[in-house]
This record gives sequence, structure tokens and C-alpha cells, in this order.
Amino acid sequence: MYLAQVSYFVPESVDAETVEFLFTNLLATWYKNGQTCGHRMELTFVDSRCLAPVMLPEGNALAPEHDNAYVRKDAEAMLAAGMRGPEVTILGEDLEEPAVCACPLPTSYILFTHMFTQAPPLQCGTCFRPVPLYRIPPTSDGEYLGILGWRDDYQACDTLWLNSGTLERAATREMSRVDSSLSQNGRSICDAITVSTGVPTYYYLFHFHGRSAKQERERQCPGCGGAWRLDKPISIIDFRCDRCRLMSSIATDLS
Ligand SMILES: [Zn+2]
Ligand SMILES: [Zn+2]
Repeated sequence: MYLAQVSYFVPESVDAETVEFLFTNLLATWYKNGQTCGHRMELTFVDSRCLAPVMLPEGNALAPEHDNAYVRKDAEAMLAAGMRGPEVTILGEDLEEPAVCACPLPTSYILFTHMFTQAPPLQCGTCFRPVPLYRIPPTSDGEYLGILGWRDDYQACDTLWLNSGTLERAATREMSRVDSSLSQNGRSICDAITVSTGVPTYYYLFHFHGRSAKQERERQCPGCGGAWRLDKPISIIDFRCDRCRLMSSIATDLS
């Protein structure tokens, strides 16, 4: 993942309000198309250019080949107003975020995120690195709003859980239980990605508290009640049910 700066040349004839309106529209459509990560919408003027900091999943994420119809429309509106761009300057790799998946053909995907990352919420099941969303077909109306909305909800729950105060128990339930609204939404997104890509897409169930190591080892799949413990853990995955496309870990407070 890369930190970058996007800028447009702004002629004197274009007022700041128009620049802000058009540029924030484009930043939003890039985000909803998976070409940028995170919710940053900061703009500043330097001489005759308007600049925005962005995080990109890959160095070429803003290349026209990744644009969708909404991005093209917003970029055209900027040109029609007289602005010239975009000029993309890569500042460097983000030290906190992992590089994205480079597997030629992932064998599975995992819907996964946590509160400390801006990476795309889809992971490759082979290398466990994030997958830029524009590599898979859009998940909602030509964009990725559904999966990005799930990511926001999950990260909000993760934040409440970590803060251990307001709504802690409710947030833990949302992330841990297979029948919570968060999990049901996530699993229907996994189903849609499995169908659109032909690649099985798993849902990860958070599991923090366990009563005993023995009970943990004997834990059954919460979807079908079947055995789902892996002989050997893969990354943080101790449990996987291929029938339900669910994954989970040994309780964090016991592992
Ligand atoms: Zn990979
Ligand atoms: Zn199952």
C-alpha cells in the first residue's frame, strides 16, 4: 500500500467552492471503486494546484484502466470546469500497511478487517495479503459500497470491543456470533463474491474468550455443527468449515 498525493491544476477562473465540490466527488468515487483506501478528504491549495493526500492499494491504482463509469464522469466534470489532472505523486510505501496480494490466482478469499487497518477488507486465502477491490467484480451497483460498509461496521464494533466500555458486549456478539446482523451481512457478501469470482470466499468469526483449552479444541462449526478444526493452523486460522465457508481462531485469551 502506498501513500500518494493527487493534484489538479486550477485556473484562476475556477472558484474554490467548485474545486472542493468536484474534487471531493472524485475522491469519493475513487474510494467507492476501491482505488483509494480510507476516508480521507483533505484538500489544500499550493500555488495554482489543488492537492489531496491519498492511500493507494497499489502504485497504479488510479490508472484509467481501473476507473469505473462514476470515476470517469467525475474526472470529466473537472476537466470540463477547466481543471487539469490528475497528477499522481507516489510518496512511498506505507510502513504500517501490508503489500497487496501478488498471487496469479488466489485459491480462496477471506472477508477480514480490524480497527487498525485501512487495507481493503478482502484477503487472499493463499498469502493472507489484502486484495485490491477492483480485481473482483463490483459488489453493489458498479461499486464496492456493500463490502466497504461492512468494513466500517466491523471496525466500529472492533473499536467498541477494544475500548471495553460502551456497547462492548453487543459489539463482541456482532463480531463473534454467526447469526448477528454483522455476520449475516458479511456472509451474504462472501456468497456474492464466491459466485461472481468462482473463488470460495470465507467469513472470519472473531473469537476472544474461551472457557478451557479442551473445550476450545472440541469447538464445532457454528454454522453446521460439524468438525472444523484444522490439523495445523494456517496464519491465525485454527478452524475452517468448507461447507459453511466460515473460519475462526482458538480463543485469543487461551492461545
Ligand atoms: Zn495472494
Ligand atoms: Zn459448517
